Amino acid sequence: MKNISILGSTGSIGCQTLDVIRNNRDEFNVCALTANSNIDILYKQVLEFDPDIVVVADYEKYKEFKSDVASYNKHIEVLHGEDGLNCAATYEKADIVMSAIVGIAGLKPTYSAVEKGKTVALANKETLVTAGRIITNMAKGKNAFIIPVDSEHSAIFQCIDRNREFVSKIILTASGGPFRKKTAEELKNVTLSDALQHPNWNMGKKVTIDSATLMNKGLEVIEARWLFDIAAQNIQAYIHPESIIHSMVEFIDGAVLAQLGVPDMKIPIQYSLTYPERTVASDSKLDFSKHNSLSFEKPDTGRFPCLKLAYDALLDGDSSCIALNGANEVAVSLFLQGKIGFTEIYDMVAKVLEGHSRININSLDDVFQVDNWSRNVALELYKKR
Ligand code: NDP
Repeated sequence: MKNISILGSTGSIGCQTLDVIRNNRDEFNVCALTANSNIDILYKQVLEFDPDIVVVADYEKYKEFKSDVASYNKHIEVLHGEDGLNCAATYEKADIVMSAIVGIAGLKPTYSAVEKGKTVALANKETLVTAGRIITNMAKGKNAFIIPVDSEHSAIFQCIDRNREFVSKIILTASGGPFRKKTAEELKNVTLSDALQHPNWNMGKKVTIDSATLMNKGLEVIEARWLFDIAAQNIQAYIHPESIIHSMVEFIDGAVLAQLGVPDMKIPIQYSLTYPERTVASDSKLDFSKHNSLSFEKPDTGRFPCLKLAYDALLDGDSSCIALNGANEVAVSLFLQGKIGFTEIYDMVAKVLEGHSRININSLDDVFQVDNWSRNVALELYKKR
């Protein structure tokens, strides 16, 4: 029986993690759950999974939740804020910490889990985008193990196995998102509801918009750089609209290994929890009779320049990746609020990066200094437009 602490249990990855656990109750026990403010879903999860610790990051919602839980006749520790998240991330009993908070909000608790030497199932890509060097160095020092959850990185992790020294290239696949066939002119007028219609995956809003701009692939390139200790020039992205091949690894002898499956996040989530073993999953099997072709295209960074921005930031250095991420989080949030247009996401991130002066990143304080700077610049740009 493995004890699982889920950071971000009310989100898309969090809920699917609980689906996996629900189907494997003999193997997993939920010991901690966390949310930001979505206490209705959290309460149902608490009733079903009976964790020891529950965290509501938002203080007002925490107070409401705590009084609701008082009527629930079990001993549950209800915590809030950053300290609460860190408690869930470092909980002694947790064998695996599922890091599934969205955005840089997931960084500190993930850092705490790694510092504690935990096994971390990592969905929160912003952790490695903003602090990849710090986190991976610390994981080595503390004997913490990071298992990727992102479908592409899980695919690479499965293909590489113990052959890291023979890898020549990583090929990340991308669906191309809902706007793959749109012209640059058409992209200027796409709406929020168009952007939220991902063709193959059902995900949280932020990652869905990142997929539509291809920033998601850019963030994944940075994530892959740190997870697999590989240079940017050896990481390629290809559009693969069917989302059947989740990514590939080319080895020095020219052999290419790919991992295939239906586009269902429960597969990489389950693997991150059962690793190094596998467990039966009744649904989600690939039917080859329904897929008579698998296609690939080079990404068009003219129409989708966010991917190039991410590559450039990775080559430029750690602080540029933090600035890219902070500006993107602000821009996506403004787009989700209907305050800026789709192509303005790129414009805003590019302008923030133009004004960015690199600094050395040695600590989380350095990370948050650059993150705050980039958010402020992005918001100023919005106010001035
Ligand atoms: P969601 O938006 O669906 O869920 C985010 C979770 O984080 C929720 O539980 C939310 O709580 C919590 N949260 C948000 N802000 C805070 C905060 N400030 N403090 C504490 N908790 C917070 O996101 P996803 O599940 O889609 O994505 C999670 C991560 O996984 C992202 O980094 C994403 O890029 C990555 N990922 C997601 C995939 C997917 O299929 N969804 C695929 C691959 C990677 P509340 O509900 O209360 O707001």
